[in-house]
Amino acid sequence: MAQRNGRGGRTQRSGTAAGRPGGGRGGAQGGRGESPSSAPKPVAIGETVTAEVIGIGHEGEGVGRANGFTLFIRGALPGERVRARVTGLKKQFGYAELVEVLEASADRLVPPCPVYDECGGCQLQHLGYEAQLAAKRRIVADSLQRIGKLRVAGEGADSAAGEGAVIVRPTIGMKDPWRYRNKIQVPIGEREGGLVGGFYAAGSRRIVDADRCLIASEEADDAVRVVKAIARELGVPAYDADTGLGALRHVVVKTGYRTGETMVVLVTAGPELPQAERFAAKIAEAIPGVESVCHNVSDGSPGAVMGPETKVLWGRDRIYDAIGDVRFAISAHSFYQVNPVQTEALYGAALEYAGLTGEETVIDAYCGVGTISLFLARRAKRVYGVELVPEAVRDAQRNAELNGIDNAVFEAGRAEEVLPAWQERGIRADVIVVDPPRKGCDAALLDTIVAMRPARVVYVSCNPSTLARDLRVLEDGGFRTVEAQPVDMFPWTAHVECVIGMQRIDT
Ligand code: SAH
Repeated sequence: MAQRNGRGGRTQRSGTAAGRPGGGRGGAQGGRGESPSSAPKPVAIGETVTAEVIGIGHEGEGVGRANGFTLFIRGALPGERVRARVTGLKKQFGYAELVEVLEASADRLVPPCPVYDECGGCQLQHLGYEAQLAAKRRIVADSLQRIGKLRVAGEGADSAAGEGAVIVRPTIGMKDPWRYRNKIQVPIGEREGGLVGGFYAAGSRRIVDADRCLIASEEADDAVRVVKAIARELGVPAYDADTGLGALRHVVVKTGYRTGETMVVLVTAGPELPQAERFAAKIAEAIPGVESVCHNVSDGSPGAVMGPETKVLWGRDRIYDAIGDVRFAISAHSFYQVNPVQTEALYGAALEYAGLTGEETVIDAYCGVGTISLFLARRAKRVYGVELVPEAVRDAQRNAELNGIDNAVFEAGRAEEVLPAWQERGIRADVIVVDPPRKGCDAALLDTIVAMRPARVVYVSCNPSTLARDLRVLEDGGFRTVEAQPVDMFPWTAHVECVIGMQRIDT
């Protein structure tokens, strides 16, 4: 569901260069065409062409070649030959819509979700899971090679040359890749006098009623259904975007994977939530595991479902969950990884690449609510975390206390400004971990990392293009990329996440 999935749930991340194939400074994943801008295009808008599909783009589209020109074709898969109608042209590539699959990939699936096309929240339900994992590994390997100019073991002309080549491991997938999301945000609206809730129809503000999202946890899905039913029963008015009248605008549900605790946040357009007390009491009665029912008033800012103020209607203001042996408090606002199972795999790889013995000083730049910091703190001497959003820093401090971890300190600020200040104060890092938003690391931060000369750098990335760009800078600064571990954090979507282990090679 589009609204449920925005940026794979990393709601604090900024910059969604994913919006456009080839977005961001890092360039392409799928192989842009090389046609010089002045040459006439070998395809024309409106024309139907035959294309060979050779890769997968940023948004899960097939990357096809037709008359030597690159076309992005939604719904087409690598290895397929398709007919596609050209809908848009840029200088070096174009867009086309799938007309017919002439030769289908053996990995093609019938998408199990009945609203897959309409919703747009998932992009790869038409591709078998094993093939998806392989495709995500390929995207990482291609970016490292093409953008990072790195040699990948087992690939290319000098493939055998293992010495110095980066090992790109197979993507870690899920045993059961469905129902993994611990958080959903469902838009609520009014249609023909009734309350509906589900997702925004592609490219519009029209809300389509839907009761199931196959990637949401069963608990979250059930909770939304129950909340909708209670709202209808009590006659709580849904917000109507056309008239600006009504109240209920979103239902947000968060669930603790380990604890089974559930939080329901009722988000309204204005300050009023009719029958708030009864509404909350009924929710508490009907939903198993519910520990918190909150009311939040949206401030209408685009891109943000919740406004700054949250009031507890029933129970606590937080639920708890755990990653590894670290407990986390999750409030209505706090950022938390949305796939708890794969988060452990992701952090496990980060821990491995950090190579901790208990003696190291670790810096966690872009630390969010301190998830990676705290995960590493038990095995390090000291951890310094830095994060832009002050509320997240406060959460990180609270989470440290919650776990009795006293060797982690957190500071609010820009990593590119705080790290140089730390260096000035004489702080030396053995390991620096970065987990930046899609746009990658700030150039000043990369310079500081080079200057600080840690023995190891661990780079957690949600965007292989900017990752590869940044790795090149670090390589030139005296680090060697040893290994890449892609982890499938968002099955059935086009998101590609991976962890990189780097070592300093100069003396
Ligand atoms: N490592 C955390 C969160 C990573 S998301 C986790 O795994 O849960 C990236 C984080 O970087 C966000 O919390 C965002 O607020 C923060 N951020 C963005 N730009 C930043 C900057 N220039 N300096 C420090 N943090 C930044």
